[in-house]
Amino acid sequence: MTATLTFLGAAGTVTGAKFLLETGGGRLLLECGLFQGPRELRARNWLAPPVDPRALEAVVLSHAHIDHSGYLPRLVRDGFAGPVYCSSGTADLLRIMLPDAATLQEEEADFRNRTGATTHRPAEPLFTAADADRALRRLAPVSFDTPFEPMRGVAGRLRAAGHIIGASIVQLDVGRHRLVYSGDLGRYGVPVMRDPEPVERADTLLVESTYGDRAHPADDGTPVLIQAVRRAVEQRGWLLIPAFAIGRTQELLFLLRELERRAAIPRLPVYLDSPMAVEATIVYARNADEHDEETTAIAAAGGRPFAPARLHISRRVEDSRRLNDLDGPAVVIAGSGMATGGRILHHLRRRVGDPRTTVLFAGYQAAGTRGRQLRDGASTVRIFGEILPVRATVLATDALSAHADRDEVLRWLKHFQAPPALTYCVHGEPDAAAALRDAIATQLGWRAEVAGDGATVPLEAPGAG
Ligand SMILES: [Zn+2]
Repeated sequence: MTATLTFLGAAGTVTGAKFLLETGGGRLLLECGLFQGPRELRARNWLAPPVDPRALEAVVLSHAHIDHSGYLPRLVRDGFAGPVYCSSGTADLLRIMLPDAATLQEEEADFRNRTGATTHRPAEPLFTAADADRALRRLAPVSFDTPFEPMRGVAGRLRAAGHIIGASIVQLDVGRHRLVYSGDLGRYGVPVMRDPEPVERADTLLVESTYGDRAHPADDGTPVLIQAVRRAVEQRGWLLIPAFAIGRTQELLFLLRELERRAAIPRLPVYLDSPMAVEATIVYARNADEHDEETTAIAAAGGRPFAPARLHISRRVEDSRRLNDLDGPAVVIAGSGMATGGRILHHLRRRVGDPRTTVLFAGYQAAGTRGRQLRDGASTVRIFGEILPVRATVLATDALSAHADRDEVLRWLKHFQAPPALTYCVHGEPDAAAALRDAIATQLGWRAEVAGDGATVPLEAPGAG
């Protein structure tokens, strides 16, 4: 059977993942991601779909992050009516994330209409909450390591990637040809999630290259977390932690609990001030089969792995507001992770001018975000139109990444029993993808290329490469 693969996104960039598989049996879209980041990239979300959605038999998703799944509501709105295969953990997280993504789209359109910042009148959202709801009804969850048939002549299988709950390494057998896609690959020996599962064989391999030119810090993020909590205690102030609702928040809750247990930090009140993070934490607790041994052992002994001793949950806006009047020391974890929106902004507005406050950034801060400004030592910050002096102490760590770095990707690749005929580096900025390609060629001796944006490549018969 002749088959081809076309790179429609996440080629030369990290977002907008979409890979079109065409065989004699039909067409299938592997990933359905939204382009994010710079305006020229986001504009691609508004172009006509790169493939007629009605001509697709199915969609297969590696995981729930929006740069892998967020175009789905638009695809469904434009006529896609087939099943969307993903792990059950991914389906759980999509039920939280797609409605949230729709709300953001609707708010942005609203804002443009109110401010006149639009060339389209009226400005329309890319998709609505109703579109997200229709997309969720297409989900067809499958278990890890259980064969499924996304379309005639194609056999699928998902393996745990260890990146976030539900994240999968996707294997698609097209006749005798085996296509393997790493998805976003998790890390080795980090809290909460298991190591990425090894794969023994592929004819064509797609591997992510987000950190293809970098190595993560050797520490596990706890030294700076301890420093931040201790400073809050000494100052009798607040520790504000902007965090992504999914993955990072659960890791932080786990680490705080562990550090308390080891008596490395005192048991402070910890406020989880994000309805989305609360929902995500429930999904994390429920999908225990993806946890590492340590997390599993805590649950087996009757403990709650994501609950520091004095955890408080605030879902309602009133609960969040009440924190304004409380004295420290205390910890609040809230979105968004780069302080571009969410409830953390209210806490920053209230407390960033107070020298007793500590702010800890535990994730990547993109250029141009408020998080990046604070992290880079800005003396003032603009929040809700007010320019505020920064008197808080700002700390940061890069140790808590959910992506394998270059050495971890190579470690995963070494599990293959024979080199794939061809390996494509996807999901990386050009420098990172090229660096990973070179490392694969020199360290493993494999044939590797950077995936070309828009390029169509044949899936060659086994051994033909
Ligand atoms: Zn991801």
